[in-house]
Amino acid sequence: MSKRYDASRRRFLAAGGAIATASAAAAAAGPALAQSAAAPAASPTLPPLVGRRTDALLARGKARRVVICGGGWGGVTAARYLRQSAPQLEVVLLERNPVFFSCPMSNKWLVNIMDADYLTKDYLKVSEEQGYRFIQTEILEIERDTKRVITAAGALDYDYLILSPGIRYNYEAWFGNDRRAAEATRARFPAAYIPSAEHFRLKQAIHDFKGGDLVMTLPPPPQRCPPSPYERACLIAALFKARKLNARVVILDHKDDVRPIGPGFKAAFQELYKDIITYVPNAHVKEVDPFNKRIKTAAGDFDFEHAILMAPHQAGDLAWKAGVVGKSPLGGLDGWANVDPLFLNDRNDPDVYVIGDAVGFVSPQFAFYPKAGHVANRHARIVARYIAEREAGRDPAHDLPNNLCYMMVSTDPQEAISVQFDYKINEQGVIEQTQWDFNQRKPETVSDDFEWARIIYGDMFG
Ligand SMILES: Cc1cc2nc3c(=O)[nH]c(=O)nc-3n(C[C@H](O)[C@H](O)[C@H](O)COP(=O)(O)OP(=O)(O)OC[C@H]3O[C@@H](n4cnc5c(N)ncnc54)[C@H](O)[C@@H]3O)c2cc1C
Repeated sequence: MSKRYDASRRRFLAAGGAIATASAAAAAAGPALAQSAAAPAASPTLPPLVGRRTDALLARGKARRVVICGGGWGGVTAARYLRQSAPQLEVVLLERNPVFFSCPMSNKWLVNIMDADYLTKDYLKVSEEQGYRFIQTEILEIERDTKRVITAAGALDYDYLILSPGIRYNYEAWFGNDRRAAEATRARFPAAYIPSAEHFRLKQAIHDFKGGDLVMTLPPPPQRCPPSPYERACLIAALFKARKLNARVVILDHKDDVRPIGPGFKAAFQELYKDIITYVPNAHVKEVDPFNKRIKTAAGDFDFEHAILMAPHQAGDLAWKAGVVGKSPLGGLDGWANVDPLFLNDRNDPDVYVIGDAVGFVSPQFAFYPKAGHVANRHARIVARYIAEREAGRDPAHDLPNNLCYMMVSTDPQEAISVQFDYKINEQGVIEQTQWDFNQRKPETVSDDFEWARIIYGDMFG
Protein backbone atom coordinates (compact mmCIF):
# COMPACT_ATOMS: atom_id res chain seq x y z
CA MET A 1 0.00 0.00 0.00
CA SER A 2 2.67 2.52 1.04
CA LYS A 3 4.69 1.70 -2.09
CA ARG A 4 1.85 2.61 -4.44
CA TYR A 5 2.96 5.18 -7.06
CA ASP A 6 1.29 8.48 -6.32
CA ALA A 7 1.68 10.57 -9.47
CA SER A 8 -0.04 13.68 -8.09
CA ARG A 9 2.12 13.69 -4.93
CA ARG A 10 5.30 13.21 -6.94
CA ARG A 11 4.36 16.11 -9.22
CA PHE A 12 3.68 18.28 -6.18
CA LEU A 13 7.02 17.38 -4.60
CA ALA A 14 8.90 17.99 -7.83
CA ALA A 15 7.28 21.39 -8.20
CA GLY A 16 8.03 22.24 -4.56
CA GLY A 17 11.66 21.27 -5.11
CA ALA A 18 11.84 23.51 -8.15
CA ILE A 19 10.42 26.46 -6.21
CA ALA A 20 12.86 25.90 -3.36
CA THR A 21 15.80 25.70 -5.75
CA ALA A 22 14.65 28.75 -7.70
CA SER A 23 14.21 30.77 -4.48
CA ALA A 24 17.66 29.83 -3.23
CA ALA A 25 19.21 30.69 -6.58
CA ALA A 26 17.30 33.95 -6.74
CA ALA A 27 18.32 34.90 -3.20
CA ALA A 28 21.94 34.25 -4.13
CA ALA A 29 21.53 36.37 -7.26
CA GLY A 30 20.38 39.45 -5.37
CA PRO A 31 17.36 41.28 -4.02
CA ALA A 32 15.61 41.97 -7.32
CA LEU A 33 15.49 38.33 -8.29
CA ALA A 34 14.67 37.13 -4.76
CA GLN A 35 11.71 39.48 -4.71
CA SER A 36 10.50 38.25 -8.08
CA ALA A 37 10.77 34.62 -7.05
CA ALA A 38 8.72 35.38 -3.92
CA ALA A 39 5.95 36.98 -5.99
CA PRO A 40 3.25 34.67 -7.32
CA ALA A 41 4.58 33.09 -10.51
CA ALA A 42 2.54 32.17 -13.57
CA SER A 43 3.90 28.64 -13.50
CA PRO A 44 5.71 27.32 -10.42
CA THR A 45 7.74 24.89 -12.51
CA LEU A 46 9.52 27.50 -14.63
CA PRO A 47 12.96 28.79 -13.56
CA PRO A 48 12.71 32.56 -12.93
CA LEU A 49 14.93 33.53 -15.85
CA VAL A 50 12.70 31.56 -18.18
CA GLY A 51 9.31 32.53 -16.90
CA ARG A 52 9.22 36.17 -15.86
CA ARG A 53 9.87 38.51 -18.72
CA THR A 54 8.64 41.57 -16.83
CA ASP A 55 11.47 41.41 -14.26
CA ALA A 56 14.11 44.09 -14.72
CA LEU A 57 16.78 43.00 -17.16
CA LEU A 58 19.37 45.55 -16.04
CA ALA A 59 19.72 47.37 -12.76
CA ARG A 60 19.09 51.09 -13.08
CA GLY A 61 22.15 53.21 -12.32
CA LYS A 62 22.40 57.00 -12.13
CA ALA A 63 22.92 57.42 -15.88
CA ARG A 64 19.98 58.21 -18.08
CA ARG A 65 19.31 55.39 -20.50
CA VAL A 66 18.85 55.14 -24.26
CA VAL A 67 17.38 51.85 -25.43
CA ILE A 68 17.91 51.10 -29.12
CA CYS A 69 15.56 48.49 -30.61
CA GLY A 70 17.06 46.71 -33.60
CA GLY A 71 20.77 46.26 -34.25
CA GLY A 72 20.81 46.64 -38.02
CA TRP A 73 22.31 49.49 -39.99
CA GLY A 74 20.55 52.22 -38.04
CA GLY A 75 20.81 50.64 -34.58
CA VAL A 76 24.53 49.87 -34.50
CA THR A 77 25.40 53.30 -35.85
CA ALA A 78 23.20 55.01 -33.25
CA ALA A 79 24.82 53.02 -30.43
CA ARG A 80 28.34 53.93 -31.50
CA TYR A 81 27.60 57.61 -32.11
CA LEU A 82 25.75 58.00 -28.81
CA ARG A 83 28.74 56.65 -26.90
CA GLN A 84 30.88 59.24 -28.61
CA SER A 85 28.59 62.25 -28.40
CA ALA A 86 26.94 61.59 -25.02
CA PRO A 87 29.28 59.33 -23.00
CA GLN A 88 27.35 60.09 -19.80
CA LEU A 89 24.34 58.14 -21.12
CA GLU A 90 23.85 54.41 -20.72
CA VAL A 91 23.33 52.91 -24.19
CA VAL A 92 21.66 49.51 -24.60
CA LEU A 93 21.25 47.86 -27.99
CA LEU A 94 18.64 45.09 -28.30
CA GLU A 95 18.73 42.71 -31.26
CA ARG A 96 17.33 39.24 -31.93
CA ASN A 97 20.21 37.96 -34.07
CA PRO A 98 23.47 36.84 -32.45
CA VAL A 99 25.53 38.16 -35.35
CA PHE A 100 25.13 41.24 -37.54
CA PHE A 101 24.40 40.34 -41.18
CA SER A 102 24.53 43.06 -43.83
CA CYS A 103 21.91 43.09 -46.59
CA PRO A 104 23.97 45.69 -48.51
CA MET A 105 26.64 43.79 -50.53
CA SER A 106 24.73 40.51 -49.95
CA ASN A 107 23.72 40.17 -53.63
CA LYS A 108 27.42 39.94 -54.44
CA TRP A 109 27.89 37.30 -51.74
CA LEU A 110 25.03 35.29 -53.31
CA VAL A 111 27.20 34.78 -56.39
CA ASN A 112 30.46 34.23 -54.45
CA ILE A 113 32.11 37.57 -55.09
CA MET A 114 33.01 37.59 -51.40
CA ASP A 115 32.43 35.23 -48.49
CA ALA A 116 30.07 35.64 -45.53
CA ASP A 117 32.81 37.06 -43.26
CA TYR A 118 32.58 40.25 -45.28
CA LEU A 119 28.90 40.69 -44.33
CA THR A 120 28.95 39.63 -40.69
CA LYS A 121 30.10 41.16 -37.40
CA ASP A 122 30.23 39.84 -33.86
CA TYR A 123 27.85 42.11 -31.89
CA LEU A 124 29.36 41.31 -28.51
CA LYS A 125 32.90 42.06 -29.61
CA VAL A 126 31.88 45.34 -31.27
CA SER A 127 29.79 46.46 -28.29
CA GLU A 128 32.65 45.76 -25.89
CA GLU A 129 35.05 47.73 -28.07
CA GLN A 130 32.63 50.63 -28.45
CA GLY A 131 31.46 50.72 -24.83
CA TYR A 132 27.72 50.11 -25.17
CA ARG A 133 25.73 47.17 -23.90
CA PHE A 134 24.46 44.62 -26.41
CA ILE A 135 21.71 42.20 -25.43
CA GLN A 136 20.67 39.47 -27.82
CA THR A 137 16.97 39.01 -27.25
CA GLU A 138 13.61 39.12 -28.96
CA ILE A 139 11.79 42.38 -28.23
CA LEU A 140 8.20 41.47 -27.44
CA GLU A 141 6.37 44.64 -26.42
CA ILE A 142 6.98 48.34 -26.11
CA GLU A 143 5.03 50.08 -23.37
CA ARG A 144 5.00 53.74 -24.17
CA ASP A 145 2.98 54.76 -21.09
CA THR A 146 5.46 53.22 -18.63
CA LYS A 147 8.51 53.80 -20.91
CA ARG A 148 9.42 50.12 -20.83
CA VAL A 149 10.59 47.60 -23.39
CA ILE A 150 9.63 44.00 -22.67
CA THR A 151 11.98 41.42 -24.12
CA ALA A 152 12.21 37.64 -23.93
CA ALA A 153 15.04 38.15 -21.41
CA GLY A 154 13.30 40.72 -19.19
CA ALA A 155 12.14 44.33 -19.11
CA LEU A 156 14.05 47.58 -19.50
CA ASP A 157 12.94 51.10 -18.83
CA TYR A 158 14.22 53.97 -20.95
CA ASP A 159 14.58 57.73 -21.01
CA TYR A 160 14.96 57.79 -24.79
CA LEU A 161 13.88 55.08 -27.20
CA ILE A 162 15.35 54.68 -30.68
CA LEU A 163 13.46 52.33 -32.97
CA SER A 164 15.40 50.95 -35.92
CA PRO A 165 13.27 47.89 -36.67
CA GLY A 166 13.74 47.75 -40.44
CA ILE A 167 10.91 46.20 -42.45
CA ARG A 168 8.41 43.38 -42.31
CA TYR A 169 6.91 41.45 -45.20
CA ASN A 170 3.25 42.32 -45.54
CA TYR A 171 2.16 38.77 -46.39
CA GLU A 172 -1.34 39.78 -45.31
CA ALA A 173 -1.66 41.62 -48.65
CA TRP A 174 -1.31 38.25 -50.40
CA PHE A 175 -2.72 35.74 -47.94
CA GLY A 176 -4.94 37.59 -45.44
CA ASN A 177 -4.55 35.69 -42.18
CA ASP A 178 -3.52 32.40 -43.80
CA ARG A 179 -0.37 31.78 -41.76
CA ARG A 180 0.28 28.45 -43.47
CA ALA A 181 0.63 30.07 -46.91
CA ALA A 182 2.73 32.93 -45.50
CA GLU A 183 5.07 30.56 -43.71
CA ALA A 184 5.37 28.24 -46.74
CA THR A 185 6.31 31.26 -48.86
CA ARG A 186 8.89 32.50 -46.41
CA ALA A 187 10.43 29.05 -45.92
CA ARG A 188 10.44 27.81 -49.52
CA PHE A 189 10.79 30.94 -51.61
CA PRO A 190 12.27 33.55 -49.29
CA ALA A 191 12.71 37.15 -50.33
CA ALA A 192 15.98 37.41 -48.38
CA TYR A 193 15.31 41.09 -47.71
CA ILE A 194 15.58 40.92 -43.90
CA PRO A 195 18.81 39.90 -42.12
CA SER A 196 18.12 36.22 -41.37
CA ALA A 197 18.72 32.66 -42.53
CA GLU A 198 16.64 33.42 -45.63
CA HIS A 199 19.79 34.61 -47.40
CA PHE A 200 21.44 31.21 -46.92
CA ARG A 201 18.35 29.42 -48.23
CA LEU A 202 18.31 31.64 -51.32
CA LYS A 203 22.02 31.15 -51.97
CA GLN A 204 21.59 27.39 -51.82
CA ALA A 205 18.60 27.55 -54.18
CA ILE A 206 20.34 29.57 -56.89
CA HIS A 207 23.49 27.44 -56.75
CA ASP A 208 21.41 24.23 -56.95
CA PHE A 209 19.28 25.62 -59.81
CA LYS A 210 19.30 23.26 -62.80
CA GLY A 211 17.20 25.24 -65.29
CA GLY A 212 13.72 26.63 -65.98
CA ASP A 213 12.19 29.84 -64.68
CA LEU A 214 13.32 31.66 -61.56
CA VAL A 215 10.66 34.27 -60.93
CA MET A 216 11.11 37.41 -58.80
CA THR A 217 8.14 39.46 -57.61
CA LEU A 218 9.11 43.05 -56.85
CA PRO A 219 7.15 44.85 -54.15
CA PRO A 220 5.29 48.08 -54.81
CA PRO A 221 6.94 51.28 -53.53
CA PRO A 222 7.87 52.23 -50.91
CA GLN A 223 10.20 49.27 -50.60
CA ARG A 224 13.59 48.43 -49.12
CA CYS A 225 16.42 49.36 -51.52
CA PRO A 226 14.49 49.67 -54.82
CA PRO A 227 17.48 49.09 -57.17
CA SER A 228 18.72 45.95 -55.39
CA PRO A 229 16.24 43.44 -56.92
CA TYR A 230 17.48 44.44 -60.39
CA GLU A 231 21.08 44.01 -59.21
CA ARG A 232 20.14 40.60 -57.84
CA ALA A 233 18.53 39.65 -61.16
CA CYS A 234 21.67 40.67 -63.09
CA LEU A 235 24.02 38.76 -60.79
CA ILE A 236 21.90 35.59 -60.80
CA ALA A 237 21.67 35.87 -64.61
CA ALA A 238 25.46 36.19 -64.76
CA LEU A 239 25.77 32.98 -62.71
CA PHE A 240 23.32 31.11 -64.95
CA LYS A 241 25.13 32.42 -68.02
CA ALA A 242 28.53 31.27 -66.72
CA ARG A 243 27.06 27.84 -66.00
CA LYS A 244 25.39 27.72 -69.43
CA LEU A 245 22.05 26.82 -67.85
CA ASN A 246 18.90 26.77 -69.89
CA ALA A 247 17.29 29.16 -67.42
CA ARG A 248 15.41 32.46 -67.25
CA VAL A 249 15.18 35.11 -64.56
CA VAL A 250 11.68 36.58 -64.83
CA ILE A 251 11.28 39.95 -63.08
CA LEU A 252 7.64 40.66 -62.22
CA ASP A 253 7.75 44.35 -61.43
CA HIS A 254 4.84 46.14 -59.79
CA LYS A 255 6.09 49.40 -61.34
CA ASP A 256 5.59 50.44 -64.96
CA ASP A 257 9.34 50.70 -65.57
CA VAL A 258 12.75 50.06 -64.02
CA ARG A 259 13.62 52.73 -61.43
CA PRO A 260 16.07 54.08 -60.25
CA ILE A 261 19.01 53.85 -62.73
CA GLY A 262 16.51 52.43 -65.26
CA PRO A 263 18.56 52.97 -68.44
CA GLY A 264 21.65 51.39 -66.82
CA PHE A 265 19.78 48.27 -65.70
CA LYS A 266 17.85 47.94 -68.97
CA ALA A 267 21.08 48.19 -70.97
CA ALA A 268 22.48 45.34 -68.86
CA PHE A 269 19.32 43.23 -69.33
CA GLN A 270 19.46 43.78 -73.09
CA GLU A 271 23.19 43.70 -73.80
CA LEU A 272 24.39 41.09 -71.29
CA TYR A 273 21.42 38.86 -70.45
CA LYS A 274 19.12 39.08 -73.49
CA ASP A 275 18.13 35.40 -73.43
CA ILE A 276 18.11 35.11 -69.65
CA ILE A 277 16.34 38.12 -68.12
CA THR A 278 12.69 38.73 -68.98
CA TYR A 279 11.38 42.01 -67.56
CA VAL A 280 7.61 42.28 -67.04
CA PRO A 281 6.28 45.73 -65.96
CA ASN A 282 2.90 46.39 -64.30
CA ALA A 283 2.87 42.88 -62.87
CA HIS A 284 0.72 43.67 -59.83
CA VAL A 285 0.51 40.43 -57.88
CA LYS A 286 -3.04 39.10 -57.59
CA GLU A 287 -2.52 35.61 -56.23
CA VAL A 288 0.45 33.60 -54.99
CA ASP A 289 0.33 29.82 -54.61
CA PRO A 290 3.56 28.62 -52.97
CA PHE A 291 2.33 25.00 -52.90
CA ASN A 292 1.75 24.70 -56.65
CA LYS A 293 4.47 27.22 -57.59
CA ARG A 294 2.20 29.61 -59.47
CA ILE A 295 1.69 33.41 -59.47
CA LYS A 296 -1.18 35.35 -61.00
CA THR A 297 -0.47 38.98 -61.87
CA ALA A 298 -2.11 41.81 -63.76
CA ALA A 299 0.42 41.10 -66.56
CA GLY A 300 -0.27 37.35 -66.79
CA ASP A 301 0.16 34.10 -64.89
CA PHE A 302 3.52 32.48 -64.24
CA ASP A 303 4.66 29.02 -63.13
CA PHE A 304 8.15 28.68 -61.74
CA GLU A 305 10.90 26.25 -60.77
CA HIS A 306 12.03 28.56 -58.01
CA ALA A 307 11.02 32.07 -56.95
CA ILE A 308 12.11 35.03 -54.87
CA LEU A 309 8.72 36.07 -53.54
CA MET A 310 8.87 39.59 -52.20
CA ALA A 311 5.62 40.57 -50.55
CA PRO A 312 4.95 44.31 -50.08
CA HIS A 313 7.13 45.95 -47.41
CA GLN A 314 6.02 47.79 -44.27
CA ALA A 315 7.75 49.16 -41.16
CA GLY A 316 9.07 46.31 -38.99
CA ASP A 317 6.82 44.70 -36.36
CA LEU A 318 8.32 46.80 -33.57
CA ALA A 319 7.02 50.02 -35.10
CA TRP A 320 3.52 48.52 -34.86
CA LYS A 321 4.09 47.31 -31.31
CA ALA A 322 5.32 50.76 -30.31
CA GLY A 323 2.22 52.36 -31.82
CA VAL A 324 4.16 54.72 -34.10
CA VAL A 325 2.63 53.61 -37.40
CA GLY A 326 0.78 56.47 -39.08
CA LYS A 327 -2.77 56.72 -40.31
CA SER A 328 -3.42 56.50 -44.03
CA PRO A 329 -5.49 59.30 -45.62
CA LEU A 330 -7.65 56.48 -47.00
CA GLY A 331 -8.35 55.11 -43.51
CA GLY A 332 -6.52 52.40 -41.54
CA LEU A 333 -2.77 52.50 -40.96
CA ASP A 334 -0.35 53.42 -43.73
CA GLY A 335 2.32 50.91 -42.70
CA TRP A 336 5.18 53.32 -41.88
CA ALA A 337 6.25 55.31 -38.82
CA ASN A 338 4.65 58.72 -38.53
CA VAL A 339 7.57 60.94 -37.50
CA ASP A 340 8.44 64.59 -37.54
CA PRO A 341 10.26 64.81 -40.91
CA LEU A 342 13.06 66.98 -39.55
CA PHE A 343 13.57 65.60 -36.04
CA LEU A 344 12.53 61.95 -36.64
CA ASN A 345 10.68 61.68 -33.33
CA ASP A 346 7.19 60.25 -33.01
CA ARG A 347 4.86 63.21 -33.58
CA ASN A 348 3.34 62.82 -30.12
CA ASP A 349 6.42 61.77 -28.18
CA PRO A 350 9.71 63.71 -28.18
CA ASP A 351 11.56 60.82 -26.48
CA VAL A 352 10.79 58.19 -29.11
CA TYR A 353 12.81 58.38 -32.32
CA VAL A 354 12.46 56.23 -35.43
CA ILE A 355 15.32 55.81 -37.91
CA GLY A 356 16.10 53.85 -41.07
CA ASP A 357 13.67 52.01 -43.28
CA ALA A 358 10.72 52.23 -40.88
CA VAL A 359 10.50 56.04 -41.30
CA GLY A 360 7.30 57.10 -43.08
CA PHE A 361 6.26 60.01 -45.27
CA VAL A 362 8.63 62.99 -45.02
CA SER A 363 8.00 65.15 -48.08
CA PRO A 364 5.24 65.93 -50.59
CA GLN A 365 7.97 66.11 -53.28
CA PHE A 366 9.38 62.56 -52.97
CA ALA A 367 7.26 61.03 -50.14
CA PHE A 368 9.77 58.63 -48.50
CA TYR A 369 13.52 58.64 -48.05
CA PRO A 370 15.11 55.78 -49.99
CA LYS A 371 15.02 52.76 -47.70
CA ALA A 372 18.78 52.33 -47.74
CA GLY A 373 21.46 51.38 -45.22
CA HIS A 374 23.24 54.62 -46.07
CA VAL A 375 20.16 56.63 -45.04
CA ALA A 376 19.73 54.53 -41.86
CA ASN A 377 23.35 55.25 -40.96
CA ARG A 378 22.84 58.98 -41.53
CA HIS A 379 19.55 59.03 -39.57
CA ALA A 380 21.33 57.33 -36.68
CA ARG A 381 24.13 59.87 -36.60
CA ILE A 382 21.62 62.71 -36.74
CA VAL A 383 19.42 61.34 -33.93
CA ALA A 384 22.46 60.59 -31.74
CA ARG A 385 23.38 64.26 -32.07
CA TYR A 386 19.82 65.40 -31.29
CA ILE A 387 19.85 63.38 -28.07
CA ALA A 388 23.34 64.57 -27.10
CA GLU A 389 22.30 68.20 -27.66
CA ARG A 390 19.14 67.80 -25.62
CA GLU A 391 21.11 66.21 -22.79
CA ALA A 392 23.44 69.19 -22.89
CA GLY A 393 20.42 71.48 -22.48
CA ARG A 394 20.48 72.81 -26.06
CA ASP A 395 17.80 72.81 -28.75
CA PRO A 396 19.24 70.77 -31.64
CA ALA A 397 19.32 72.29 -35.11
CA HIS A 398 17.80 69.92 -37.68
CA ASP A 399 19.89 67.95 -40.14
CA LEU A 400 19.14 65.87 -43.26
CA PRO A 401 20.60 62.63 -44.60
CA ASN A 402 22.03 61.88 -48.04
CA ASN A 403 22.26 58.61 -49.96
CA LEU A 404 24.59 56.72 -52.24
CA CYS A 405 23.94 53.33 -53.79
CA TYR A 406 26.13 51.18 -56.04
CA MET A 407 24.72 48.25 -58.01
CA MET A 408 26.84 45.59 -59.72
CA VAL A 409 25.36 44.49 -63.06
CA SER A 410 28.17 42.40 -64.52
CA THR A 411 30.62 39.92 -62.98
CA ASP A 412 32.95 39.27 -65.92
CA PRO A 413 34.25 41.93 -66.10
CA GLN A 414 32.96 43.35 -62.82
CA GLU A 415 31.00 46.53 -63.61
CA ALA A 416 28.52 48.64 -61.67
CA ILE A 417 26.16 51.59 -61.97
CA SER A 418 25.12 53.96 -59.18
CA VAL A 419 22.65 56.52 -57.88
CA GLN A 420 23.05 59.44 -55.51
CA PHE A 421 20.51 61.53 -53.58
CA ASP A 422 20.90 64.86 -51.80
CA TYR A 423 18.38 66.69 -49.63
CA LYS A 424 17.74 70.28 -48.71
CA ILE A 425 14.88 72.31 -47.31
CA ASN A 426 13.33 74.59 -49.89
CA GLU A 427 11.81 78.05 -49.39
CA GLN A 428 8.42 76.53 -48.54
CA GLY A 429 10.04 74.55 -45.72
CA VAL A 430 9.62 71.26 -47.63
CA ILE A 431 12.40 68.66 -47.84
CA GLU A 432 13.51 68.50 -51.46
CA GLN A 433 15.35 65.62 -53.11
CA THR A 434 17.82 65.78 -55.98
CA GLN A 435 18.68 62.48 -57.66
CA TRP A 436 21.57 61.63 -60.00
CA ASP A 437 21.55 58.34 -61.91
CA PHE A 438 24.91 57.10 -63.24
CA ASN A 439 23.77 54.65 -65.92
CA GLN A 440 27.03 53.79 -67.62
CA ARG A 441 28.42 50.56 -66.21
CA LYS A 442 32.06 50.86 -65.24
CA PRO A 443 34.71 48.84 -63.37
CA GLU A 444 35.66 52.00 -61.40
CA THR A 445 32.17 52.07 -59.93
CA VAL A 446 32.81 48.60 -58.47
CA SER A 447 35.91 49.99 -56.73
CA ASP A 448 33.81 52.92 -55.48
CA ASP A 449 31.25 50.45 -54.08
CA PHE A 450 33.86 48.53 -52.08
CA GLU A 451 35.37 51.79 -50.87
CA TRP A 452 31.89 52.99 -49.79
CA ALA A 453 31.38 49.72 -47.89
CA ARG A 454 34.79 49.96 -46.21
CA ILE A 455 34.12 53.50 -45.01
CA ILE A 456 30.56 52.93 -43.86
CA TYR A 457 31.34 49.65 -42.05
CA GLY A 458 34.12 51.56 -40.27
CA ASP A 459 31.59 54.21 -39.33
CA MET A 460 29.20 51.61 -37.91
CA PHE A 461 31.64 49.33 -36.12
CA GLY A 462 34.79 51.38 -35.56
C1 LIG B 1 19.68 42.70 -51.14
C2 LIG B 1 19.80 44.04 -50.51
C3 LIG B 1 20.76 44.93 -50.96
C4 LIG B 1 20.86 46.18 -50.38
N1 LIG B 1 21.83 47.03 -50.84
C5 LIG B 1 21.98 48.23 -50.27
C6 LIG B 1 23.04 49.10 -50.68
O1 LIG B 1 23.83 48.77 -51.58
N2 LIG B 1 23.16 50.29 -50.07
C7 LIG B 1 22.32 50.68 -49.08
O2 LIG B 1 22.48 51.78 -48.56
N3 LIG B 1 21.29 49.88 -48.67
C8 LIG B 1 21.11 48.68 -49.23
N4 LIG B 1 20.10 47.85 -48.79
C9 LIG B 1 19.11 48.34 -47.81
C10 LIG B 1 19.55 48.17 -46.35
O3 LIG B 1 19.77 46.82 -46.05
C11 LIG B 1 18.48 48.71 -45.41
O4 LIG B 1 18.06 49.96 -45.87
C12 LIG B 1 19.04 48.86 -44.01
O5 LIG B 1 19.34 47.57 -43.51
C13 LIG B 1 18.03 49.57 -43.11
O6 LIG B 1 18.53 49.65 -41.80
P1 LIG B 1 17.52 49.56 -40.56
O7 LIG B 1 18.36 49.73 -39.34
O8 LIG B 1 16.37 50.41 -40.82
O9 LIG B 1 16.98 48.05 -40.65
P2 LIG B 1 17.79 46.68 -40.50
O10 LIG B 1 19.19 46.84 -40.96
O11 LIG B 1 16.97 45.62 -41.15
O12 LIG B 1 17.81 46.44 -38.94
C14 LIG B 1 16.66 46.07 -38.22
C15 LIG B 1 17.10 45.15 -37.09
O13 LIG B 1 16.05 45.02 -36.13
C16 LIG B 1 16.06 43.69 -35.66
N5 LIG B 1 14.73 43.41 -35.10
C17 LIG B 1 13.55 43.60 -35.71
N6 LIG B 1 12.55 43.22 -34.89
C18 LIG B 1 13.12 42.78 -33.74
C19 LIG B 1 12.61 42.25 -32.52
N7 LIG B 1 11.30 42.10 -32.31
N8 LIG B 1 13.48 41.92 -31.55
C20 LIG B 1 14.81 42.07 -31.74
N9 LIG B 1 15.36 42.56 -32.88
C21 LIG B 1 14.52 42.91 -33.87
C22 LIG B 1 16.37 42.87 -36.91
O14 LIG B 1 16.86 41.59 -36.59
C23 LIG B 1 17.42 43.74 -37.60
O15 LIG B 1 18.73 43.39 -37.25
C24 LIG B 1 19.98 46.57 -49.35
C25 LIG B 1 19.02 45.67 -48.90
C26 LIG B 1 18.91 44.42 -49.48
C27 LIG B 1 17.88 43.46 -48.96
